[in-house]
Amino acid sequence: MWLLAFIILALIVGFFVLPRIRLHYVLTKAFPSAYSKILRQNVRGYSRMPTHLQMQLKRKIRQFLHEKTFVGCAGLEITDEIRLTIAAKACLLLLNREIAVYPKLTHILVYPSAFIAPRQQLAAGGIVTHTNQTLSGESWSDGRVILAWDQIITNTFQDDFEHDVVIHEFAHQLDSEDGSANGAPVLQTTAAYRSWSQVMEQEFTRLQNALANNEMTLIDPYGATNPAEFFAVSSETFFQKSHQLAQYHPALFALLKAYYCVDPREWG
Ligand SMILES: [Zn+2]
Repeated sequence: MWLLAFIILALIVGFFVLPRIRLHYVLTKAFPSAYSKILRQNVRGYSRMPTHLQMQLKRKIRQFLHEKTFVGCAGLEITDEIRLTIAAKACLLLLNREIAVYPKLTHILVYPSAFIAPRQQLAAGGIVTHTNQTLSGESWSDGRVILAWDQIITNTFQDDFEHDVVIHEFAHQLDSEDGSANGAPVLQTTAAYRSWSQVMEQEFTRLQNALANNEMTLIDPYGATNPAEFFAVSSETFFQKSHQLAQYHPALFALLKAYYCVDPREWG
């Protein structure tokens, strides 16, 4: 009886108490100045962010780096610059919210450049075709995100600021936290789900119609692929082109502003 109680106590301490103590210790450590320098260089708008958001971001980055494992692929050596840049962009999506830091995510695999992903497709008649797709990022619901480092750096220093593969793939992670990647992340109320589907459906249809009419679009045409891609792509636009999104798609901007609990126009 005493032995059983001891084992249960040891399990509770091992699985719940010690990790919390370790995390608390990590979060109270000073943020190295070398880390801050990387944020200023590689995270657009970081220097102009309000101080309280910078503090929050650093805290979430600390937790992200503590909990997630980075794996260099195809010979890439993982550096602080790689870890900080990815963690910062991923944690931008979590500011002002008391939510877990991507609880299902365990590993970030980083390739030096676009990687080849084998694909299987089941066609009519049961024929399986195998193809190779070249990708700059991929999000899996089994706890992995795969990214191409040169794409991240290109996104960081591009002129039009349109794309951000890290924001894109981590929006997919948020989308799949409820078990299905359908373009709707976890929301707090039934009313929130209702207005989410209403606005998203309208804007998704608007993008499809614009493309059918060969019109220029602010939101990347890839968003018309399906609702999950529309959420990921419009999240990129929200953080990267916040002023234009607010001007040309006010309902979508308001919806994403309410969800992400930030207004990137403050530092964009
Ligand atoms: Zn995607």
